[in-house]
Amino acid sequence: MKHTGFVYSAEYLKHRTKFHPECKERLTAILSRLEQSGLLAQLLSVQPYPATIEQIALVHSKDYIGVVRDSCRQGVRMLDMDTQISHNSYEVACLAVGGALAGVDAVIQAEADNVFCAVRPPGHHALPDKAMGFCLFNNVAVAARYAQQEYGLNKVLIIDWDVHHGNGTYDVFAADPSVFYFSIHQFPHYPGTGRADETGCDKGAGTSLHVPLSAGGGDAEYIATFKQQLAPAVLAFKPELILISAGFDAHEADALSSIQLSSKGFGRLTDIVRELADEVCAGRIVSVLEGGYNLTALAESAYEHIRALQGAAD
Ligand SMILES: [Zn+2]
Repeated sequence: MKHTGFVYSAEYLKHRTKFHPECKERLTAILSRLEQSGLLAQLLSVQPYPATIEQIALVHSKDYIGVVRDSCRQGVRMLDMDTQISHNSYEVACLAVGGALAGVDAVIQAEADNVFCAVRPPGHHALPDKAMGFCLFNNVAVAARYAQQEYGLNKVLIIDWDVHHGNGTYDVFAADPSVFYFSIHQFPHYPGTGRADETGCDKGAGTSLHVPLSAGGGDAEYIATFKQQLAPAVLAFKPELILISAGFDAHEADALSSIQLSSKGFGRLTDIVRELADEVCAGRIVSVLEGGYNLTALAESAYEHIRALQGAAD
């Protein structure tokens, strides 16, 4: 069985939102499911640390980082029409990025085979100089750049199965041939991007793969896509590390989408990714929480995901 790490801190609860689906109860729901099942005790506890401004600036402009910091301190409540902040949100967002970085450290330094990072706020809509869609800093994008800069990795592959297209991540890496971005998402849907013909640009042409799905798709469509489209892309690209933007809002019970994945379906997708990672990158996977807004479905899906990261068959 794999040695799986788990990143979490109660500090993540201090990003306060009001009447908002992206709430602190998302993390406490995951934590209690893991505790109550006994799974938490099997995981290596990986401590997050606050990412430095220099680390966050691997993706975001320093001007924007300053705007986030100052807005939180000045009591601003909204960074865009969907994205709430509170007094501590800047520090929490730095710790969310640092949670993903700590996951990379643990996997590259072989303390864990793979890691799940239960962090918030999420990141994949965040653009280099703009907050968007509940996201302040792009946790996964910074983690990819950090793995390259800190550990000299050449090629990183990101699998984004959040039900929304990760427009922020695509924006960061569209022209970069060293980071492959795969996204499967409901389309048309928020944020409006993610067409199949958006395959990267300039030197990064061909290193992005978008699979837009119509409302109503579920486990069968996802598993077929992973086997028929993702697997050959991973085997051809040969990444040294796989990052997952693990949103669980494609669940059939989630109110923010019309995709019908089951909790077990997330486990099946994880099995496929784990086997691919074994083949190309010594099993290295860092999975970072994105969306997922039905608390029961989120907790159950995260549970199935982590069990599959462990390689624990039912
Ligand atoms: Zn989402």
